[in-house]
Amino acid sequence: MSRIAYVNGRYLPFADAKVHVEDRGYQFADAVYEVCEVRAGRLIDERRHLERLKRSLGEMSMTMPMSQAALSVVLREVVARNRIGYGLVYLQISRGVARRDPAFPPQTPPTVVATARPLNLARNEALAQKGIAVVGVPDNRWGRVDIKTVGLLPNVLARQAALDRGARDAWFVDKEGKVTEAASANAWIVTPAGALVTRHADHAILRGITRTVTLDVVKAQGLTLQERGFTLAEAYAAREAFETSATQIVMPVISIDGHRIGDGKPGRIAIALRREFHHFAEAT
Ligand code: PLP
Repeated sequence: MSRIAYVNGRYLPFADAKVHVEDRGYQFADAVYEVCEVRAGRLIDERRHLERLKRSLGEMSMTMPMSQAALSVVLREVVARNRIGYGLVYLQISRGVARRDPAFPPQTPPTVVATARPLNLARNEALAQKGIAVVGVPDNRWGRVDIKTVGLLPNVLARQAALDRGARDAWFVDKEGKVTEAASANAWIVTPAGALVTRHADHAILRGITRTVTLDVVKAQGLTLQERGFTLAEAYAAREAFETSATQIVMPVISIDGHRIGDGKPGRIAIALRREFHHFAEAT
């Protein structure tokens, strides 16, 4: 079955799904995006993702290209046309096509693209049962990573550096030596005393939707929470570590820079949060 993409009002086979060479997303990374998990054909936490999208657009002086309800129809349609049971849907909105000039172009319609693809549920579950290795890398990103832009070069390089070092993901470390987040996920540890720690959300991390929902699970379970930065040294000595993102949900981390975390197996709390997550997320 050929994949279908939505491009500016049309549902097109992949081969015909194209954006202009002077699209500002392509030229300047002047674009924002969202990724939603799809489970049993339903979008997970769509409302929160669309609200974050609206915020990202607002931060770059753009408005939603259509109503939230209309965008929602597009996303569902892309999921349905690609027959996604378990997978993800991707939505990108750029400032549109214009002669190359950094200043905002006057009255240019945005470019709206949506795609979807299946993910392998069994493979993801197997990975979560095993846990992943991560490495620390310097956080050399710009100061507004709370805006979900497609300007992801540092994230790309960090992820590749992790793979080159035999790990699966990278955790960014800021100039104060504190972990901010992972290359495309939020980072968490459980201290030896049993407190959950994840960095406070400001301009230096993306406020992950999975992070937000996980915080609800943490509160419901009466676990102790500290929203603050933590060092790699603290992470090496943690009882557990994990990361959260829409496509991984709660992914246990069993090694950081080659240091075994806890007993080197996915932690009890990470497993419990992963199991509970979808009872707290919204499925539409
Ligand atoms: N942090 C970064 C840098 C990301 O790219 C992502 C997801 O892509 C996340 C955190 C997790 O966000 P979410 O839980 O909304 O997927």
